[in-house]
Amino acid sequence: MTTLEVRDVTKVYKLRSGFRSADLRAVDGVSFRLEPGRTTALVGQSGSGKSTIAKMLMHLERPTSGQILVDGAPVGRGRRAEVAYRSQVQMVFQDPFGSLNPYHSVGHHLERPVRLHHPRLGDTEVRERVLALLRRVRLDPAEDYAQRRPHELSGGQRQRVAIARALAPEPGILVADEPVSMLDVSIRLGVLNLLASLQEEDDLGVLYITHDLATARHFSDEILVMHRGTIVERGPADDVILRPQHDYTKTLRAASPDPERRLAELS
Ligand code: ADP
Ligand code: MG
Repeated sequence: MTTLEVRDVTKVYKLRSGFRSADLRAVDGVSFRLEPGRTTALVGQSGSGKSTIAKMLMHLERPTSGQILVDGAPVGRGRRAEVAYRSQVQMVFQDPFGSLNPYHSVGHHLERPVRLHHPRLGDTEVRERVLALLRRVRLDPAEDYAQRRPHELSGGQRQRVAIARALAPEPGILVADEPVSMLDVSIRLGVLNLLASLQEEDDLGVLYITHDLATARHFSDEILVMHRGTIVERGPADDVILRPQHDYTKTLRAASPDPERRLAELS
């Protein structure tokens, strides 16, 4: 089990055009904690800084200031520390098409992380683990799916492969950045329900990034509302949605379809 803490993190991008340069504070003094068995939703409009937070959590970007702590300790440098970090913190991206390599089979995509994080396992055990991962994301018969290539799968099935790959190192934390927004509306709820049951089974701490308030409320314990790089409101999911305090949350709420109706549309 893992606790991940984001402490007063800021990310400034330097923008240059010609001789002029300007600072863009994409993320500005953000703090929150992800704990085992809890889902935290990060909501906000496009451009509010949500993906920048996800990228910093995945070490694809470095914070300009602030700290990211795992179980209370800062993450060390170097390859070994990075592999250890990756075995604790994993991510599912928005685009299930871009995140899988078209030349590799589904089995290959899952074998790599299993071998990386469990270097002592023999071939038979690796194979067993790959098949077990496919069954966990309900891609059954697993032997059949393992042989397929990404283009032979639907968007929803590809996202299930991406979820299986994220689970391969047996992480404690899962970051999901708009995990269903590129999928057909009819299959979104199925993928979100899968994430919810995997979370329960593994006691995962989940960061669910979305602009959809209805699923944020339904699938999360806590909601963080992000606006222009800062968290303007946070609290238990029902409180934030039913009794928003901040004007920006009220605007978001008013601009989004009725949460109950929207959830019904998805099911
Ligand atoms: P969100 O995921 O909420 O839509 P992002 O985190 O992607 O928002 O972007 C936040 C802000 O940072 C936006 O203004 C975006 O244009 C800017 N931004 C994101 N990545 C970069 C980058 N690599 N260089 C410069 N600006 C960036
Ligand atoms: Mg984004």
